[in-house]
Amino acid sequence: MSDEREDTAIVWFRRDLRVHDQPIFLEAAARAKRSLAVFVLDPRLLEPSGKARRTFLFRSLRDLDESLGGRLLVVKGDPAEAIPKLARAVGAGSVHVAADFGPYGRERDEAVEKALDGVELVRTGSPYAVAPGRITKSDGEPYKVYTPFSRAWTQHGWREPADTDASTVDWMDPGEKDGGPRKVKIPDDEAPEAELPAAGEQAARDQWAAFVDEHLTDYDDLRNRPDRPATSRMSVYLKYGVVHPRTLLADLGGEGKGPTSFRNEICFRDFYASVLWFFPRSARENFDTKFDRITLDSGESADEKFQAWQEGRTGFPAIDAAMRQLRGEAWMHNRMRMAVASFLVKDLHLPWWRGARHFMELLVDGDLPSNQHGWQWAAGTGTDAAPYFRVFNPVTQGERFDPQGDYVRRWVPELADVEGKKVHQPWKLNEPPADYPAPIVDHKAERQEALERFNAL
Ligand code: FAD
Repeated sequence: MSDEREDTAIVWFRRDLRVHDQPIFLEAAARAKRSLAVFVLDPRLLEPSGKARRTFLFRSLRDLDESLGGRLLVVKGDPAEAIPKLARAVGAGSVHVAADFGPYGRERDEAVEKALDGVELVRTGSPYAVAPGRITKSDGEPYKVYTPFSRAWTQHGWREPADTDASTVDWMDPGEKDGGPRKVKIPDDEAPEAELPAAGEQAARDQWAAFVDEHLTDYDDLRNRPDRPATSRMSVYLKYGVVHPRTLLADLGGEGKGPTSFRNEICFRDFYASVLWFFPRSARENFDTKFDRITLDSGESADEKFQAWQEGRTGFPAIDAAMRQLRGEAWMHNRMRMAVASFLVKDLHLPWWRGARHFMELLVDGDLPSNQHGWQWAAGTGTDAAPYFRVFNPVTQGERFDPQGDYVRRWVPELADVEGKKVHQPWKLNEPPADYPAPIVDHKAERQEALERFNAL
């Protein structure tokens, strides 16, 4: 029987740096006899990524290249030029991608599609369990509240993982291409100060297997404890698609509290991607525009406070531990992300987007929908938001979720000798450590100030 498939297709990797559970491989193999594997280093995405994310990306690309037997073609430039040129150079009949739903990704893909001029851009799957835009209310309107979204999401369900590996596709040797953008070397690490998680599919799978074995059962009870290694640390692998959420959901199994709670968190990720899809302006602006009129601080004193927050020198040990964890690991525990965000907005009266920008600069898992909406939630300006008048107390957050003070002592060496939960209020010690700052604000007074500004709206 003759093989009527196209000769060549392009598999364009973006946020799906893996060979397992890859529906685009199945699609490409069904359409073409062989495929060219491509990654485009796009300056518009790389520049704002920060050193930690760029380094993690480069390491993930090296791992992917190895899985593909050294046949990943890495090029540099604007994808709207690079991909069509490559398609012409190899005579591709189709270009296969997982759909991108971010504001820039959508725009870029439309530009690529136009420039491909007849060569089909085939979108298969997405980085989410359920693609953004799929789940709407019965009248077609988007959900703006998590709980009903999550009910609809569970009802909608998701696909089983696709059975693929590197051998699913017959990969073309990039050396065979005739013209088009030239191959570039995967850039060297940028040596960020942070200790990054191991890159690559095997590392992601090992981390996931250890979490399922050791922590999934207690996940619901312990996921708010920054002093314990109780969460999965899958965010960075999900960000770059080193693992697909479908793979994780399939492994969760039963209905116990741990698996249910974990599924809810994956749903939060889908929810925020869906909100950003329907309301792209919410990446930069208050989702609830009523807050556009709230009074925020600026000027020299505000900048000094912002800097103290960035550097973990606010004098509130739990906040400082978290901000130093962000520098140390390019990651921060979710509970502490909420606490430091609330502190920035409601104790320091600074705009959420300043904090969100700092997070995006440092986080290795920095991801637009989860970050911007995590910030808007904490600021009270977002969907489903914590009511503005609910102000986290930076001391009791520490005492509740780091009850023995281990998290603080790990990240704030100036307080390493203070025993037990006393570490959360060093100013009450007989001899407060001289090298640790006094609180830069009076929480009680700033809470009152935040409420007054809110009431003035
Ligand atoms: P686990 O507790 O093991 O959760 C499993 C997965 O569920 C995570 O990997 C993540 O994909 C998803 N998830 C968990 N909590 C949330 C949540 N609240 N919102 C959306 N998805 C969630 N997450 C990012 O991936 N990138 C970000 O840039 C980011 N910025 C945030 C900023 C703020 C202010 C806040 C409050 C939250 C932010 N989050 C972000 C969500 C959350 O903090 C991280 O996903 C989580 O801490 C990652 O650690 P983990 O993988 O061990 O989480």
